[in-house]
Amino acid sequence: MKKLISIIMPAYNVENYIQQAIDSVINQNYENYELIIINDGSTDNTLKIINKNIKLYPNIKLINQQNQGLSAARKSGLTIAEGEYIYLMDSDDILEPNALNVMGEKIKTKKDCYVFNARFKNELDNDWGRSMDKKLVISNNYSEISNGTDLLNRMIDNREWRYAVWLYLTKKEVIKNNDITFFKNYFHEDSAYNYQLLNNSNVIEFCDNIIYNYRLRPNSLMSNDLTSKNVSSYLNSFKIIYNTNKKISNPNKYKFEIRIIDQILEVLIELSYEELKDSYEYVKKLQEIIKNRNYYSNIEIKNIFETDTFTFEFLESKIRRKRRKQVEDNLSYLEIHLADHCNLNCKGCCHFSPISEKKELSADSLEKDLSKLSELISGKLDRMVLLGGEPLLNKELLQILKICREYFRNTDIQLLTNGLLLLNESLDFWNVCRENNIQINITKYPVGIDYDKIINCIKENNIKYFVYDNGNIDDKKFDKYCFDLSKLQNADNNFYEKCVMAKDCAYLEDGKIYPCQLASNIKHFNKYFGLNIEQSENDYIDIHSCSFEQDIYEFLSHPIEFCKYCDFSKMQKFDWDFSKKEINEWLVTNEKKLELTNKN
Ligand code: SF4
Ligand code: SF4
Repeated sequence: MKKLISIIMPAYNVENYIQQAIDSVINQNYENYELIIINDGSTDNTLKIINKNIKLYPNIKLINQQNQGLSAARKSGLTIAEGEYIYLMDSDDILEPNALNVMGEKIKTKKDCYVFNARFKNELDNDWGRSMDKKLVISNNYSEISNGTDLLNRMIDNREWRYAVWLYLTKKEVIKNNDITFFKNYFHEDSAYNYQLLNNSNVIEFCDNIIYNYRLRPNSLMSNDLTSKNVSSYLNSFKIIYNTNKKISNPNKYKFEIRIIDQILEVLIELSYEELKDSYEYVKKLQEIIKNRNYYSNIEIKNIFETDTFTFEFLESKIRRKRRKQVEDNLSYLEIHLADHCNLNCKGCCHFSPISEKKELSADSLEKDLSKLSELISGKLDRMVLLGGEPLLNKELLQILKICREYFRNTDIQLLTNGLLLLNESLDFWNVCRENNIQINITKYPVGIDYDKIINCIKENNIKYFVYDNGNIDDKKFDKYCFDLSKLQNADNNFYEKCVMAKDCAYLEDGKIYPCQLASNIKHFNKYFGLNIEQSENDYIDIHSCSFEQDIYEFLSHPIEFCKYCDFSKMQKFDWDFSKKEINEWLVTNEKKLELTNKN
């Protein structure tokens, strides 16, 4: 005899949980159901447990298939389901004891879809499956709503669109007649499925009964939601929602597209550079689809996606800027100058080395700063770059390298040099680099030296190294900064939108951290040219008066006073050359204004 409710339960390697899930179904005081379990190529004892249960309970059916993923398993279950109503559940969760009775009563009214409530439960709780006071999945009551699209709109307005499949009991006809389907092999298929389901359910009932317990596991998809693999999944969800929107007249339909785009952006922000690169093709497809959508109310999306030239570099810079607005929970990069002066004399050097006095960082002062910083941030720093000027000019270099490693044991420490002095370095230097796992980064300049020989020397000494700009020196360009001496630039706009250094190039000097080295090193420029581009106490955070690491992260997430001087609209590129120490190597500025400032 045909059953009224088909429960579809995919199972993959759940030997520790599935018996509990099956028990929660077969122990119900309700008979008019079938339980379809799809063993999705489990490699543990899951199949054995299912088979044992099949012998005991005639209501259970089994589909045994090769591993194809959750969506494909649900799809297989749907193909053999005989029930008038379909209920989808996971094989590591449990039904409430009276769940099927509640469903059985409700479906007497023959609505398209019934929406129930559920609880999240942490698997580490001792009382798993019994305690009654755990967090509800849906907080609001929607019992006055009788249409799927309206329910979706209200849930979105309340910021609680819940698309977990186990909240919904649906008439099979609605799924079949509207071609609502699961899409193979991607996560977050539930949102796309639910979007179609609700938009095609004309008569719906929200029932505030709790029928299900969702087990929060440390590695389950829901409790580990943002991963680098998710971008393509979200893209698939987006495509389904986009295509569904073509067919429906829901006035809020673009909200859902934007919601998915928001989720994609959230994932992108979390990705490393390499992961972002891997995701680029997916995001590009998304960009092609939505380029002509007018999401004008959302400036952020407009800025990122509504452009004609969508390159990886463009995406990366936009994501980097978006990331800047977040307060981080660690320090990813820190720059330290070991010498202000340099043995090369580059025109417009952005560290002002050609016009700096000779000054080397002392090992004692660095140790004082690094011990405090390490204590503050518990040694958590992804990358430390030691540069200058030319860092190899520092006479205490070896001691400094050891100190850096002593206080930052797991940090990627890199020594950035023009390489000119490397061939003359002592055996001690190479030993210290090797023993302390210091990487050497080289910037090449067109000054006629044998870089191949230098790089061979690094290799022979078995030291990690990196060469910037793919080692290209034929067409070397520098950036010319422009300061607006009247300090009228928009600091927010500079910091969040235009600057490539803000936050990503934190700089430590004399116990103070700046968001970029410019705000500190402008003193060399001021001194040499007799100017007064002011530095303020708001331009840095003093780590010695700091008690919490969050204060540093918070400080680095906002523009500083000095950002009002940076005029990116006038920034220029120029060919590398030797410096003549003239002011126009660094400035593109109105000479009259400069004269006036000089007199003042
Ligand atoms: S090598 Fe680097 S630090 Fe030295 S002058 Fe050139 S740009 Fe400045
Ligand atoms: S002062 Fe602000 S805008 Fe200027 S380079 Fe530094 S962080 Fe960027």
